[in-house]
Amino acid sequence: MCRVQRVWQWLVIAALTATACGQRPVASSEFEATRQRMVQRQLRERGIKDERVLAAMGKVPREEFVPADERGDAYEDGPLPIGYGQTISQPYIVAFMTEQLRPKRGDRVLEIGTGSGYQAAILGELVAEVYTIEIVEPLAKNAEATLQRLGYKNVHVKVGDGYKGWPEGAPFNAVIVTCAPDKVPQSLVEQLKDDGRMVIPVGEQFAQQLYVLEKKNGQLKESVTLPVRFVPMVREAEQR
Ligand code: SAH
Repeated sequence: MCRVQRVWQWLVIAALTATACGQRPVASSEFEATRQRMVQRQLRERGIKDERVLAAMGKVPREEFVPADERGDAYEDGPLPIGYGQTISQPYIVAFMTEQLRPKRGDRVLEIGTGSGYQAAILGELVAEVYTIEIVEPLAKNAEATLQRLGYKNVHVKVGDGYKGWPEGAPFNAVIVTCAPDKVPQSLVEQLKDDGRMVIPVGEQFAQQLYVLEKKNGQLKESVTLPVRFVPMVREAEQR
């Protein structure tokens, strides 16, 4: 066998061995294709129209925000577990809530429920500054590390009870809540600027309505959009 043949034989064996052992890493280009398919099938075809939101969903690598053993399912049409009994939301819900928020480039946005940090990264692509609060410390630290690694310098993560909002950072142009309280926290209303919008699931455990609240001359105008299922907003005292 000549040298070239031997090298080829070695390469083929190495490739087959890696595949058989399940070691083949999923190339980022494969994720790119699945991400674009997700944007088309799960978002565009279901009525998400805001091109900036669609572009952000087509750019942020969701696979980086899920545990290693869930990466292959990163673009499936559903939520995924992220540990501590919490989940990263379904891509459609992330896109829908972001579109309802009507994010503008110069906005400062508050998010309650950082979770994996994925929703915060989407917002980081669309607005000036994102302030996000997570009550489970290891989740907050993990999200912060992921966001830093991916270069989201405009996303600020804090550990704490989001029910109280982030008074030092207020007021905000928009507030997005990704865990469900049984009523809208007054502190979040107070920290919302006039002409600002809040997107928030409200209701009983695992069966809520997604509200869009608009503040106009100090008054709230509310509309109900979708039935949703978020984890409940827990309070600091309950968590301890
Ligand atoms: N936005 C997240 C998904 C949210 S899951 C993402 O993109 O991955 C809901 C998160 O809200 C959970 O991580 C949960 O720990 C957190 N949470 C629940 N109650 C909270 C509270 N009072 N303050 C801050 N975070 C809270």
